[in-house]
Amino acid sequence: MTRVYGIFGWPVAHSRSPAMHNAAFAALGLDAVYVPLAVQPERLGRAVEALRALGIAGVNVTLPHKTEVIPLLDEITPAARAMAAVNTVIRREQWLVGDNTDAEGLARSLREAQVALHGASAVVLGAGGAARAAVFGLASSGALRITVAARNRAAATALVAELAAHAPAVTLATCGLDAELTSALSSCSLLIQATSATLGASGAADAFAASLPLEALPASATVCDLVYKPLRTAVLARADRLGLRTVDGLGMLLHQGALAFERWTEQTAPIDVMRQALGHDRTR
Ligand code: NDP
Repeated sequence: MTRVYGIFGWPVAHSRSPAMHNAAFAALGLDAVYVPLAVQPERLGRAVEALRALGIAGVNVTLPHKTEVIPLLDEITPAARAMAAVNTVIRREQWLVGDNTDAEGLARSLREAQVALHGASAVVLGAGGAARAAVFGLASSGALRITVAARNRAAATALVAELAAHAPAVTLATCGLDAELTSALSSCSLLIQATSATLGASGAADAFAASLPLEALPASATVCDLVYKPLRTAVLARADRLGLRTVDGLGMLLHQGALAFERWTEQTAPIDVMRQALGHDRTR
């Protein structure tokens, strides 16, 4: 019988996950299909019940359901609990496990790009869900120091306070997007851009990139932007011009998907097939 997988989101038509997972199923000869499932926020509870009733094998969960889905599931993994967000639901008979592969996906994509995470000193821009995943991913990968830099200092402080218990070996700090950021960047090996400010090519994105003191970064530093639309964001373009190493956000999307695929199928994900389905060229 064909196994059905999908992604809960609202909206969800833009998602690249169906292309990535269907290509992987085809490559491994699995009788399975992955479909976008548009779930209105007020119908999330019924959608989770439908998941159980229809025997859907697993789903990804995207905005705006990543946090709201938590109380509707039977078990939450430590990673999903730390991030207060679920991006993957694994079905074991009638038992639904909520997991989160974003942090590990980011760590895998950085390692694939030969970025050293063990002992890293990182700055994460932003204090939303992507920033939280980045902090957890870096902390779990042996980073020594992580500074969360955000225009909303209270949000940065709350994020660090909540993650401190999950990352006892890391020094966590916060700073604003002002002179403090220059100081934090000057001793940092890795900058993760995790705000939505670079989403879409626009004058505002350019202005945001221009406002960042990237010239303070050591020449050996890497800049990674989690936004992948556009792939070469204004921040990555500026980092490129400064001669810094850059990593785009499509690698995180790819690897969080590959990890979900592996949780569901217990098979090694065909990474290159999935990468091709996303249109990702590792050498760019
Ligand atoms: P959230 O809405 O949760 O958080 C957005 C963050 O960006 C907030 O901290 C917000 O600050 C900050 N921000 C927005 N505009 C500006 C600005 N002009 N200057 C400074 N800070 C700003 O979004 P997510 O964290 O979920 O996602 C952020 C981005 O990461 C998304 O655009 C998405 O494309 C990308 N992403 C990529 C993934 C991948 O797999 N590569 C996975 C998940 C996300 P404030 O609270 O003050 O508004």
